[in-house]
Amino acid sequence: MNKMKLSLVVPCYNEEDNIRDFYHAAKHVFDAEEYEYEMIFINDGSKDKTQEALESVFNLHEACVVVETFSRNFGKEAAIYAGFQKATGDFITVIDADLQQRPETVARMVKILQDNEEFDCVAAYQEKRQEGKLVSKLKDMFYKIINRTSEIEFFPGASDFRTFRRPVVDAVLSLPEYHRFSKGIFSWVGFNTCYIPYTAEKRNAGETKWSINKLFRYAVEGFISYTTFPLKIATGLGLFTSLCAIIYLFVVVIQKLCIGNPVPGYPTIVVLILLLGGIQLTILGIIGEYLARMYIQEKHRPIYIEKKLLDYKKNQSEAEEKDR
Ligand code: UDP
Ligand code: MG
Repeated sequence: MNKMKLSLVVPCYNEEDNIRDFYHAAKHVFDAEEYEYEMIFINDGSKDKTQEALESVFNLHEACVVVETFSRNFGKEAAIYAGFQKATGDFITVIDADLQQRPETVARMVKILQDNEEFDCVAAYQEKRQEGKLVSKLKDMFYKIINRTSEIEFFPGASDFRTFRRPVVDAVLSLPEYHRFSKGIFSWVGFNTCYIPYTAEKRNAGETKWSINKLFRYAVEGFISYTTFPLKIATGLGLFTSLCAIIYLFVVVIQKLCIGNPVPGYPTIVVLILLLGGIQLTILGIIGEYLARMYIQEKHRPIYIEKKLLDYKKNQSEAEEKDR
């Protein structure tokens, strides 16, 4: 019988000082396990010496390594997609290259899947978040709103640090959308997920790629991809302002008839024009966000473009050819 195999999918963007440490840490953990494993590194258009570091670990030829290099930065979501396409394991893990997420935890996840037939995925969530209070509050708010307005469930604090069984990954790959919001996709495909707590370590080297601005864009991406609720705001606001207008109309008529007040003009009109103009532009913007995504999806652009691929399997088959 074939041995079970684990695939580690590792997105890397400007991680030159982390690759070798990650490689050795992972090798140390998984050499001690009885199953086979492969490491699939995705160089997501890094501008530093990440590629050199990746090629140097590939050229050691002591572990099963794949290095997929993108032609530019396509984002972590695209990197995960590419990694899934290359993965050949029965279990597939998404793990960061900066050692904030430990390979030891992955071994624990695999054990859970091996021991519990009913689970198809193990996801780690951060028990204690290490970010500032404001970011933490904003993230809580995000989960509250999206859980209330979207049909799928988002587990608060769950990261994309997960281990899947093969069928889940195949399901994720069958979704061809260009704008990939992984957390949503992982929930959308269903299956049984087991959530385990973990504490994120300090970054091994380098800096996080998440600025407040990027986090905000990411949250918008989540909303637009997983709920059409913002589109319904227009209907609600429209009905509400119409109602206000009718009430105000009666007030003005009654004032004129009973008290004979002159209709208060200029300031009311300016405020109303600004208010309604503002609401309309905001709603147009929201519709635009959806439309823009449809437009880009319609172009059927690829999710990433490959520049170079190093694959241990190719080396193996060449070696076998030589032996023959
Ligand atoms: N990453 C990537 N492409 C990007 C941004 C990040 O592949 O455009 C990778 C990065 O190299 C790391 C992982 O995604 O392995 C998580 O990024 P980071 O550590 O910056 O996020 P944080 O841990 O701070 O949430
Ligand atoms: Mg990190």
